[in-house]
Amino acid sequence: MNKRPFIFILSVVLAIGCFIGVGLTYMVSGSDSVPRLPQQTARESEALRVTREMPPLVAESEIEPVVEQEETAVAVDEIAVAGEVILPPVLPGLVEHGPREAPLVALTFDLCERDRDRAGFDERIVRILQEKDAKATFFMGGKWAETHPDAAHMLGFEGLFEMANHSYTHKLFTDISGDEMKSQVLKAQDSIRRHTGVTPRYFRYPAGAYNDAALQVVADCGLVPIQWDVVTGDPDPNVKATAMIRVAKERARNGSIVIMHANGRGWHTAEALPVIIDELRAKGFELVTVSELLGEKRGIVKADS
Ligand SMILES: [Zn+2]
Repeated sequence: MNKRPFIFILSVVLAIGCFIGVGLTYMVSGSDSVPRLPQQTARESEALRVTREMPPLVAESEIEPVVEQEETAVAVDEIAVAGEVILPPVLPGLVEHGPREAPLVALTFDLCERDRDRAGFDERIVRILQEKDAKATFFMGGKWAETHPDAAHMLGFEGLFEMANHSYTHKLFTDISGDEMKSQVLKAQDSIRRHTGVTPRYFRYPAGAYNDAALQVVADCGLVPIQWDVVTGDPDPNVKATAMIRVAKERARNGSIVIMHANGRGWHTAEALPVIIDELRAKGFELVTVSELLGEKRGIVKADS
């Protein structure tokens, strides 16, 4: 029997099979690898850029997903070049307390630092808030953030705390021009964003001093000014912890905003704070951030952590 036709047909079938196999392999590996390489490169360079932008203590898990940050990171960089962080304008107004219906109270701590003056940082306050799992809002000076970069970074990435703006060098807004007010607000916005990773939505006037022009400038910068309705008096060395505790206990109502200092000038604040927290909770108040007090979630880095 002549086997040649059979061998010929077998060879042809094998050749076609090899051709299809090689072709398929090439197509699959080709479609897989070609588009992926540039994506990986882009992601890696983006991740490096985001990491460089953050202060060095950032843990990888704390950086937001790179893909989601791509557009924001670029936009923020462009804004930072101009030295400004711009929010859409809001209507001029002032907040002295939150709604009186719900039993919520906001503890706030100012981090003031003036020109030619180096303020401090009372870490005991942060430890107490953490130990007691108490939320708080820090009104940070822009210059303070620059002289306390590690502390500013820690505050920004601690999920219990909200970051807010307390001007750049604590100049009284009733003493300066509109242009200088704007510079005080925006330089602080830029500094706080660079050091904490957060763009604040709230502002506190140095010493609470404001006028119509000051209200307009802060609104034009997209920030809401936050005053207070419970004054502990902690920058006065003569105001003892017992007096601070009594004031907080007697004056706090639904929606209250309590002002204290964490820049080393709140002389008895750390001593009074544990009792203030316990007393307010015993009266049925929940301690919240300013944005939670006002029914908003904005301005918080890790609201759900
Ligand atoms: Zn201040």
